[in-house]
Amino acid sequence: ESIGAWVARRAQRSPRAVALVDATTGTRTTYAELDDRVAARAADLAALGVGPRDRVALLGENSCAYLEWLFAVARTGAIAVPVNMRLAPAEVAFVLADAGATLLVRSTAFEGLGDAAVAELDAAPTLVDLGTDPGPTRRREPEPAADRGGEPCVIMYTSGTTGRPKGAVLTHDNMLWNAVNLCTAGPGIASTDVTIAAAPLFHIGALGLSALPLLYAGGTVVVVPSFDPAGFLDLMAREGVTTQFLVPAMWAALTRVPDLDDRRFPSLRWAISGGAPCPVVVIERFLAAGWTFTEGFGMTELSPAALFLEAEDVLTHAGSVGRPFLHVDARLVGPDDELVEPGEVGELVLRGPTVFAGYWNRPEETAESMRGGWFHSGDLGTADDDGFVTLVDRKKDMIITGGENVYPVEVEQVLHRHPAVTDVAVIGVGDPRWGEAVVAVVVASEGVDPDELVAFARERIAHFKAPRRVEFVAELPRNATGKLLKRVLREQFAGSSA
Ligand code: ATP
Ligand code: MG
Repeated sequence: ESIGAWVARRAQRSPRAVALVDATTGTRTTYAELDDRVAARAADLAALGVGPRDRVALLGENSCAYLEWLFAVARTGAIAVPVNMRLAPAEVAFVLADAGATLLVRSTAFEGLGDAAVAELDAAPTLVDLGTDPGPTRRREPEPAADRGGEPCVIMYTSGTTGRPKGAVLTHDNMLWNAVNLCTAGPGIASTDVTIAAAPLFHIGALGLSALPLLYAGGTVVVVPSFDPAGFLDLMAREGVTTQFLVPAMWAALTRVPDLDDRRFPSLRWAISGGAPCPVVVIERFLAAGWTFTEGFGMTELSPAALFLEAEDVLTHAGSVGRPFLHVDARLVGPDDELVEPGEVGELVLRGPTVFAGYWNRPEETAESMRGGWFHSGDLGTADDDGFVTLVDRKKDMIITGGENVYPVEVEQVLHRHPAVTDVAVIGVGDPRWGEAVVAVVVASEGVDPDELVAFARERIAHFKAPRRVEFVAELPRNATGKLLKRVLREQFAGSSA
């Protein structure tokens, strides 16, 4: 069924339970109130002529209203298009045009960005203010037909880490099965759970791991517009957070809060990182502080939860992303889609009800990724005899140096352990002798000799994997969800010889 029905069902069963908390104002919205607000916004959308399969773009920082609009769009049968608000106007214009959005709902803070983007379009979408109060519920729109499950719910643009973002079409059923997967994994998610939506809601991470499963389960989502590490920890304690997802860059920022060890989170049942490789030192830091800290693997195209390391396996399998969620099939295959042996590197392919319906308007890329009934992730990994998957890297980031394969993430994990290294990206740059040379781009907290970092790596991994060159920078290029933009670094350091 449509996700538009989730809130209505919860409102019937537990109208007074708190669905949303606005961390800025402290306003608490019950399921009954949320249902009314969603109904009113759906009526507003219908009055603007929005109907089934129309695309409604959402542009704004995290807010309760953002989630109200998302459910309201679903109730009209239209498709929501969350837009990354850190993009430049031309990039926002690309997304609006690519999705064919007829309506743009934008927050006051991003009115300028939205309007600048719209100015670049031939066919301008209707503009709506995200923050306007829906007012008292008027006539209720009839609930959408119950057989909407297979229809598109959102067009979620990928992070654009490896190239231009692609619109992944996720259906209502995709979102439902993703919620079921989370509710049945590890300690599960129930109506007593509380989480903070801190990662951006325009990205599948916060939407698919924080907001939607919690609201499906009848729990509480605390919404913050931006991320400040110390303030985030205060909020976790104050709201009694029980389950928490963040991307690795955010978890890493929390490890740098000086009094982390003095803080107590008695309600917290599990913390999970995903969306990019999490430095093992970060995982170890939280385990040492007594947290139940785990890692998962997800992708926009997978709604997003795919693999997950159960808490009891963290100590024995640190660095692994675990095994598939209940309703996910995963395998590692070679170049001809043949299964690889345990321990051998293969491409991770997946199957099941959370696999997307295809890329919006990109039939070739869809066909390329969906082969033989399996979605090809573009991520390489190995599996042990028990099926625990360890990702080695993206296919596109693998370095071939002197005929040897080097997985940059492995080198980064080692360099993260050096006390002077705050942040690091390992890339391959064209080299006349080696084909590609391994280069480490490092943000250092103190002066450190590049040769020392090379020696540090050579003591811990094969010499051919250790960097041939170390470059120091003040900051690494990352996108809005904290992912390393290696294509930018490759361009920056291409050709510059040692
Ligand atoms: P684009 O597809 O536009 O290049 P993207 O792949 O970064 O961007 P997302 O869908 O947000 O867009 O991210 C999915 C990718 O993130 C995966 O394919 C994988 O490379 C990476 N990833 C997610 N979780 C993990 C994890 N736990 N460990 C390592 N990598 C991860
Ligand atoms: Mg991708």
